[in-house]
Amino acid sequence: MNFISFERTIHMHYEGNIIRPPSEANSILLQITVGCSRNKCTFCGAYKGERFRIKPDSVILSDIDFAETYCRRQRRVFLCDGDALIVPHKRLLGILLEIERRLPWVTRVGAYANCKSLKMKTLDELKELNTHGLGILYMGLETGDDVTLKKINKGATSQEMIQMGKKARAAGIKLSITVLLGIAGKSRSDMHARETGRVLTAIDPEYVGALTLMLIPGTPLYQDYGEGKFFLLEPDEMLNELKTMIAATDLSKGLFHANHASNYLPIRARLPKDKAKTLSLIDEALAGKIDLKPEFLRAL
Ligand code: SF4
Repeated sequence: MNFISFERTIHMHYEGNIIRPPSEANSILLQITVGCSRNKCTFCGAYKGERFRIKPDSVILSDIDFAETYCRRQRRVFLCDGDALIVPHKRLLGILLEIERRLPWVTRVGAYANCKSLKMKTLDELKELNTHGLGILYMGLETGDDVTLKKINKGATSQEMIQMGKKARAAGIKLSITVLLGIAGKSRSDMHARETGRVLTAIDPEYVGALTLMLIPGTPLYQDYGEGKFFLLEPDEMLNELKTMIAATDLSKGLFHANHASNYLPIRARLPKDKAKTLSLIDEALAGKIDLKPEFLRAL
């Protein structure tokens, strides 16, 4: 990337909704794209109405310049928005090189990725990005059930998800995968849980985050719900789904989280070590021996 010189700015150039994973709360949020290049998943309202675009190099450089002066205590960078990995390889590499050069105290760069953006990068390109700081990718799997993946318009099959997830890991990049409890509704809950366990086991990521579906007004799924075509799970059905999913998931040493604010029962399990203990904890909650988070405290 050829960056031009510019005057020092005293703010970051944020546009639209800035969304980042909870674990990137203390990171420098460097917005290199606006919106999401897919923007078609039926449950997602994150970037509705936002036209996807890559921000100009001059603006990105200006934000790196701001971080060079004002973010010297933040050791991590998160590249926003929806799927920053979609940025063409040479350009993305140029941004990482600038981060390396100007923010040498940064130890890890992270970004959201989806199947499409991972497909667009070769293994060697991903390795090169990893060498220059890209240390973690956050990927929304949502479900490993092909019927549900199609229904929610995720744009990828479970096989493609497995291939792309494995590719990121083979490049040395850590993977944090998000799955959505309740996304298959009542009728496919069990299949969703078992198939998601199958795909997670095949990818074997470092982190899994299980979030509980919350309906967002304006999304196609919200409309289906309003028209009686989609049914939300009750808290105990949600827990049963989580239990089946964890039982079906075999990771070599991954951390399975279900402690997002939207979840009824916070779980943090190192698999396989904590599997039996976690399944017993869910059983206790199902038996009413542990209080679940009240509905009014569930918020994204
Ligand atoms: S879920 Fe992810 S890929 Fe799908 S529209 Fe939302 S941000 Fe884009």
